[in-house]
Amino acid sequence: MRCAGPSTVVFDPTLTDYDFGPAHPMAPVRVDLTMQLAHELGVTTGGPLRVVPAPVATLDQIATVHDPALIEAVQRAGNTGAAELQVGLGSEDNPVFLGMHEAAAHVVGASLEAFRQVWSGESLHSANITGGLHHAMADRASGFCVYNDVAIGIRWLLDQGAQRVAYVDVDVHHGDGVQAIFWDDPRVLTISLHETGQFLFPGTGFSGDVGGEGAEGTAVNVSLPPGTGDAGWLRAFHAVVPDLVREFAPDVLVTQQGCDSHAEDPLAHLVLSVDGQRAAYVALHELAHEVASGRWVATGGGGYALVDVVPRAWTHLLAVVSGAPLDAETPTPHAWHEYVEERVGVTAPRSMSDGRPPEFRDWREGYDPGTWLDREINATRTAVFPLHGLDPLP
Ligand SMILES: [Zn+2]
Ligand SMILES: [Zn+2]
Repeated sequence: MRCAGPSTVVFDPTLTDYDFGPAHPMAPVRVDLTMQLAHELGVTTGGPLRVVPAPVATLDQIATVHDPALIEAVQRAGNTGAAELQVGLGSEDNPVFLGMHEAAAHVVGASLEAFRQVWSGESLHSANITGGLHHAMADRASGFCVYNDVAIGIRWLLDQGAQRVAYVDVDVHHGDGVQAIFWDDPRVLTISLHETGQFLFPGTGFSGDVGGEGAEGTAVNVSLPPGTGDAGWLRAFHAVVPDLVREFAPDVLVTQQGCDSHAEDPLAHLVLSVDGQRAAYVALHELAHEVASGRWVATGGGGYALVDVVPRAWTHLLAVVSGAPLDAETPTPHAWHEYVEERVGVTAPRSMSDGRPPEFRDWREGYDPGTWLDREINATRTAVFPLHGLDPLP
């Protein structure tokens, strides 16, 4: 895929102030190790991908999605350190930390800059790997997410005059916050592929959840069985995502690249490899060119294998965003091994690959109702394809 425009990653080091503390799984060192790996591999240096600084979002910008009561509670909690449990702050998932509002507003500002880059045409693709806080609801923090930067970015696009926005969420958890915020809005197509809510937080996102009145078919959920690997995941993705996004014809493609679908991730039960995740990023990039003239905003998301997975997955993502994907088999640089050893005291992975070629069987070759995976894919197609005038049969 040839890119016809410049690309950016929105980043400055103080974005790592979004930090729930040493006992929390979402340690910001994952972002630091990613940016260091991307730097050492030349992804962010001297190539087509420019690093641009992240502004802090204003209260008015945050209030385009969030209730004033939540914003006030986040500010109070961040000043006093006291829990605000009525809005989800001070729980085990979302502990309170000082400066919480500023840190969360910075993540929102970074995503808004990525959206602005793409909508203005300054960038064809733009990424914020600290963004993708997809669980935050309009009125409460949830699942490590204080403000929903993705939803605020999509709302901004609509306010600028975008007619249709497609959002594809490949995090292992259901993208429930983004879905809920645009549930009744036919201008926003949200597609989430995730481990089934029968087994995993937040417990939602089933094939029958298709959107509110007047917006039927614009929420799409593929709930995957635990144990799904590259072949099954890519089969599901290609059976559902391209057809729907193509038919929807968005002005912009927005994607959330949580990499907690990896086998090594400690919080969930899918078993993808970095190679499968890389294949998903390549497919999303191609889709952006095919359906949205290349206009693509990419965010991070979950990912709790801090050394073995996140830096490699998101460096692949940034390379794809730059228009110059890294070979899957690229070795990781010696300077990065030393950095990892010094920073976290563990041995860094030696290759950008897990050595598993991401092959899958195409849905059009037929499906097997005897398998849990194929039943789920079929259920999603049956529930939403007709709402878009598409044939659910292979
Ligand atoms: Zn491109
Ligand atoms: Zn997640």
